[in-house]
Amino acid sequence: MDLLTIGAFAKASRLTPKALRLYDELDLLRPARVDPDTGYRYYAPGQLEQARLVAWLRRLGMPLARIRAVCGLAPAAAAREIRAYWAGVEAETSARRDLAAFLVDQLSAVSGTSGEDTTMLELRYSAHSDPGRVRPANQDTAYAGARLLAVADGYGPAGAPASSAAVRALRFLDTEEVPAGNVLNVLEDAVRGATEAVLDVATDGAEAGTTLTAVLWTGSQLALVHIGDSRAYLLRDGGLFRITHDHTVVQSMIDEGRLTPEEAGSHPQRALLLKALGSGSGTPAPVPDLRLHESRPGDRYLLCSDGLYGVVPEDRVRQFLVSVPDPDTAVRALIDAANDAGGPDNVSCVVADVVRTAAG
Ligand code: MN
Repeated sequence: MDLLTIGAFAKASRLTPKALRLYDELDLLRPARVDPDTGYRYYAPGQLEQARLVAWLRRLGMPLARIRAVCGLAPAAAAREIRAYWAGVEAETSARRDLAAFLVDQLSAVSGTSGEDTTMLELRYSAHSDPGRVRPANQDTAYAGARLLAVADGYGPAGAPASSAAVRALRFLDTEEVPAGNVLNVLEDAVRGATEAVLDVATDGAEAGTTLTAVLWTGSQLALVHIGDSRAYLLRDGGLFRITHDHTVVQSMIDEGRLTPEEAGSHPQRALLLKALGSGSGTPAPVPDLRLHESRPGDRYLLCSDGLYGVVPEDRVRQFLVSVPDPDTAVRALIDAANDAGGPDNVSCVVADVVRTAAG
């Protein structure tokens, strides 16, 4: 068999001789023969395909150890491994994108573009959770305080303790002043605490977990933590804006253009979660979405479980929020609407208004 010199092989594979020597040392691509006297490396033409694959995987940014593993696999298994690697990259990129957006929001707020004196703002709030008309138990938890708003929708045999444990683990945020600059670290600790609390109740191997959508009020901004398919909405200037993204299979199908939002409402797997807090959610634990929102006086926030938006159309939700000024009355009206529509699921709502303080 005719062997190629390292120079000829480099040219044919579009790799440099330097790269080829490196791949040899790293055990990614061994030469077919090394001359014992001169140390010159020779390659077989049949190695070209692997050399090209190594080069492209390097371009993809795959770590060397992982490339080595891919090169040892049959094509079908190698394809699976590359797909798995890329899914990991995308998940990590999306977490980094959130972090970047959070930091941009935080620094933009510091530079003070709104002109509004936010020290004079506070929340007026109400929370309620109802079992609905069909379910034997309520596995939802809703909470509202001066600084913390939260909705959690538990699932599995220990769903009820899971959702209440997650919210309870965040409760310290309600009594502690959090400096705006430290919000990200505090939220990270809080989410870790909530995750551990959920895993603690999901003992004896029974699957249990919960969604968690929570808002921390810092006095000038709202920091949002979100995982699962509960939702947060912002009512501003009469318009209702959803500010969370469902971590569900159907939402990802909508994102990919494979399903319309109308079709999603009746999809048999619409409740299937991609991410949640709790057992069976994978290791490392899935990372929640984090967002920072500038608040304005007059803003109204709604947090709710799928028991509301699954049966009450968004425009009706908007009408209630626009027409009922008192948060407590608005929460009751929304829950009544879900029950009037059959109440097939537990339903939880938190309504909070950003208002000027009496002093302001
Ligand atoms: Mn639910």
